[in-house]
Amino acid sequence: MQHNGQPRLFASEMRPDSITIDADGLATVSCPRCGRWSFLRKGMVEPHKAPRWVRRTDAAELRERRCFGAGQRVTVDLTSEEWEARRRAWLASDAYVEVLASAESRRGSRVHLTGKAPVLPAVSQIAAARAA
Ligand SMILES: [Zn+2]
Repeated sequence: MQHNGQPRLFASEMRPDSITIDADGLATVSCPRCGRWSFLRKGMVEPHKAPRWVRRTDAAELRERRCFGAGQRVTVDLTSEEWEARRRAWLASDAYVEVLASAESRRGSRVHLTGKAPVLPAVSQIAAARAA
C-alpha cells in the first residue's frame, strides 16, 4: 500500500478524539477524510471504501470507489498514558464543549412513513375460510 501523498500526521498534534492508543501501543485512527475508524497498517490508515456522501462530492473517488483518506501516514509519538492524559485534558476543555454543542445542533434523520402494514387474518379466520 502506498501513502496518499498528504503530509504525515502526528498523534501529538491530532485531536484526542480522533485517535486511540491502547497500552500495547496499538493505535486506531479516525480517517481524516471520512471519519471511519481503522487500525494503522505500516503506519498508514487502512484502505477502505469511500462512504456515499464522500463519493457524491468527488468524481475521482466515485470512479475509484476507495476513500482518499486511506494511506494517510500517521506517526504515533505518544504512549497510551500520554494520550489518556491529553484526552482527559481535552474533555475538560472548552474545545470539547464546542464539539458537543455542534453535535447537539445537528438535526436527526427524518422519519419516512411507508404506509400501514397489512393486517393478517387470525388463524381461526383462515381455518373458517378453508372449512367453508
Ligand atoms: Zn476514509
